[in-house]
Formats: sequence, structure tokens, C-alpha cells
Amino acid sequence: MIGVFREQDELGRRLIVILRGFPCSYGKCTFCPFAIEQSLHTSKVIFDNREIINNAVREKEEYRPDRIAVFNGGSFHELPYDTVERLKPLAKNTVFEVEERSEFITLESIRNLLDYYKPEHLVIRVGFETFREDIREKTLNKGMPDSELKRVIQVRIEAQSRGWPVSIWSYLLFGMKGISEESVAESLRAFKKVFDGVIAVRYKKYLPNHPEPVPVSKELRELLNREADLVDWGGEQWMIGEKKGYAPE
Ligand code: SF4
Repeated sequence: MIGVFREQDELGRRLIVILRGFPCSYGKCTFCPFAIEQSLHTSKVIFDNREIINNAVREKEEYRPDRIAVFNGGSFHELPYDTVERLKPLAKNTVFEVEERSEFITLESIRNLLDYYKPEHLVIRVGFETFREDIREKTLNKGMPDSELKRVIQVRIEAQSRGWPVSIWSYLLFGMKGISEESVAESLRAFKKVFDGVIAVRYKKYLPNHPEPVPVSKELRELLNREADLVDWGGEQWMIGEKKGYAPE
């Protein structure tokens, strides 16, 4: 699903820019499908991203989105500088969304992103996935213990108390064996108290060694639809590895 996509949903009129990334430097989450689209070849990452960003700049002119989200199946801070630099015209004076692993979220990294891109508002999405440390660290192997969760919560408080235009949102994973519905409901409530938004993502199994998906009850569906800021039910357009939108080969 690398490419540029127009989207109109609960978050408004959005342009989604999905870039080619290098393999995530952590790379150990048990459910992670992103390796399917990542590349170890610097030239491929750079040239694919140039093409995607050129298309995104044209789309921004035409579509006039309220917000622009840039994803790379890992952390924004792991993109090559060539890509980072070319994103400037997309990010300026708009609501600009990026994804990071927790270790890249510091007061200094936020200040640098704000100074460099000058967005109207910066949204950082982080994949804590669940508030329950046992599930996060044992079932998902996220490498983000509660100490990291607490640290990022504090970074958010300090950044916002300085009046910086930044929000931190968390992903919430559901529909996977080992993540009980009770824990999803508990995590949703807890994340809403400490972050600015929650994006619930239905688990999809991409590789044979990944955990099994499980059905989602009507009660959980209704809860997520009602209380999460956005629910990714895994529509066809987000299938990793599929070629959609303005996607390079
Ligand atoms: S942090 Fe994200 S990209 Fe990295 S291994 Fe985990 S799920 Fe995959």
C-alpha cells in the first residue's frame, strides 16, 4: 500500500502518504507486517520516496487536505535525509502526522520537527498497542515497557505545557489471539486519559509465523466505533503489499 491516498473520514479531509522505509531498527514485534514493503537498498528507498512525494505535492495542490499523514512502516526518524528534506513543502502550515517508536519521542526531537517543518500542528502516532504491559511486552514483544509509556506521557505534558502545537496519539491493536477484548476496552479508556487520540487497528495476519486473528464481538465493535477517534477495520485499501494509489513498482 505504498503510495498517496485521499481519505475523508472522522479525522477530516486527509492525504495519506505511505513511503518506502528501511527495515525498522527494532524489528521484533510479533505481529509486524511492515518488512513486506521495506527495502535495504538506499537508492530504492530514496527514489521511490521522491516519486511518492512528488505525487503528494501535486495532490496537496488539487485536493487541499486538512491534514497530511506520512507513514513509513516504522519510525519517521529512520527515513533517509533526502526524504526528510523533500517533505518540507507538504508539512508546512498544515496538520502534519508522523509515526514514531517511543524511543524517538523526546522534547528535543519534537522541538526539532516543529522548527524544521513548521506545521500548523504536529501529530505523533506511537504504537503502544495496549495499556497492559504483560500483553505489550510478552505477547507483542513491543520493546516498550511501562517506563517508556510513562516517559512519553510526561513528554506530552511538558511539550503541551510549553504551548507547542503537538499531540501524541496511540494505536490500539485488537482482534488478535492473546489480546483479550476486556484488555482492549481497558486500554482504550486508559489511552484516552493520557493521550490526545486513539486509533484502533484491527489485526491482520500477513505471515505464517504471525499470531492468529480472532473474531471481534458486536459489543467491542460498538465500543470502538463510539469511543476511538478512528478505527482501522482493515479495509482493502490498506492491504500491505498491494499496489494502490500512486505507487512505484
Ligand atoms: S516498532 Fe513498528 S515497525 Fe518496528 S517491528 Fe514493531 S510494529 Fe514493526
